[in-house]
Amino acid sequence: MTKDLTYWIEKGKEMVANREARIAKAKKWKFDTIATHGLYDANEALSLNNGSIMEPVYLSPAQAYENSAEMEAGLSYQMPNWCYSRIANPTTYFLEETTALLETYGSEIRATCLATASGMSAIRTATDPFLVYDKKFPNPNIVTSAKVYGGTFQQFWVRRHQEQGLEVRWVKEPENMEEWENLIDENTRFVYGEFPSNPTVGIFDISEVAKLAHKFEIPLIVDATCASPALTRPLVLGADIVIQSASKIIGGSGTSIIGLLTAKLDITSKIGSEEMKHDFATWAKLWPFRDNGPTINPMASFMTLNDLRTLRMRAEKMSHNAMLVAQYLENHPKIERVHYPGLQSYAAYKMAKKYMQLADDGRNMFGYMFAVEIGEKSENSSKNSRKFYDALQMAWRATDLGRVKTVATLNAISTHQQQGEEGRALASIKPNTCRIACGIEHADDIIADMEQALKSI
Ligand SMILES: *Cc1c(COP(=O)(O)O)cnc(C)c1O
Repeated sequence: MTKDLTYWIEKGKEMVANREARIAKAKKWKFDTIATHGLYDANEALSLNNGSIMEPVYLSPAQAYENSAEMEAGLSYQMPNWCYSRIANPTTYFLEETTALLETYGSEIRATCLATASGMSAIRTATDPFLVYDKKFPNPNIVTSAKVYGGTFQQFWVRRHQEQGLEVRWVKEPENMEEWENLIDENTRFVYGEFPSNPTVGIFDISEVAKLAHKFEIPLIVDATCASPALTRPLVLGADIVIQSASKIIGGSGTSIIGLLTAKLDITSKIGSEEMKHDFATWAKLWPFRDNGPTINPMASFMTLNDLRTLRMRAEKMSHNAMLVAQYLENHPKIERVHYPGLQSYAAYKMAKKYMQLADDGRNMFGYMFAVEIGEKSENSSKNSRKFYDALQMAWRATDLGRVKTVATLNAISTHQQQGEEGRALASIKPNTCRIACGIEHADDIIADMEQALKSI
């Protein structure tokens, strides 16, 4: 048989059917099983990888083709192939496929994922396609929670608004549906929220905001980095696209910077082509991402995949620790306030209970991160927060979170420094706000470190 274009297109169909069968099998598994195996099985190992039980790392820039017809079929996207590592890579596929399964866990929803060089580039890649020029809607705006990560605030406010003139409408109290309702109009291109937000753990009603966005025929994009699919799966709750900075709990042992963009099939948008709306993550990978190039290194994909296997257990342990430490601090006289969705004092506690549950367990777990305002009640002193911070002995002073090691961050001088006083007020960051991201140590030792550091005040 001549290996012409038709031959390769037929072979491509077989590859797609084989992949579909593996997805169908994995869809029936529990969360930890999917996280551990993904789509890599013994058949794959024996036929492609000398039987290795771990996924191969392809540190190669490009794929070779048997003949010109295979190359033509591959490069015209008529058969699955990876072609060139800026566009795709077989190791990265394993990470993407596992992530797509976990983000839709517990539902029949199908999604695809695109791994990127960082969480910030995942946000950029997810939002760019909705902001293209469209003469039917010449004055675009976006509606976003003001309680977002500092980098996201900068990307929206400095890069998009100040440099490019995009109208950015901030929702100051994202748990309040009325604000979202008042800000969205026919020129809104997408709605954006963080669940829970970094660092003040603001949340919003994902299902209700998704319904509202869909009424206006626009997508809801959710950054769920601080929950992770082990606790909250926005796609299952109605969102169209979910972002993870896998630099955080997904890659918890701390080897890389990585972003993950996962989109359900057939997203809602009045902007863009049918192809884009049908399979957003794949479309983004094959078109704009390929041209813009914020590509993940295959080694980072492999290390992230390894960490992903233990995500649920770490989410459980870290949430358990965060709860104990938050409770301890809430009762401490030198602490003004603790923001943690797991505390009864948290304003949207009921909503947090509804949306944050450990997969395959059902128990409420509220994540690894909380914010505390240091100092005696209503003192709001940055001096005392620095004293406390500088006295920490085990917890690391760093701008990091989701790590297996406990990390503390003074946000006003670090993550949210660039956005200035006004921007920080929008995000409820005070001069004495300290973000604590609990690791997997024993909770007693984290508490002991906090206790001795508070004695310095
Ligand atoms: C860290 C973080 C980001 C940015 O991710 P990088 O991987 O550092 O680029 C985005 N959103 C949230 C909530 C984060 O915590």
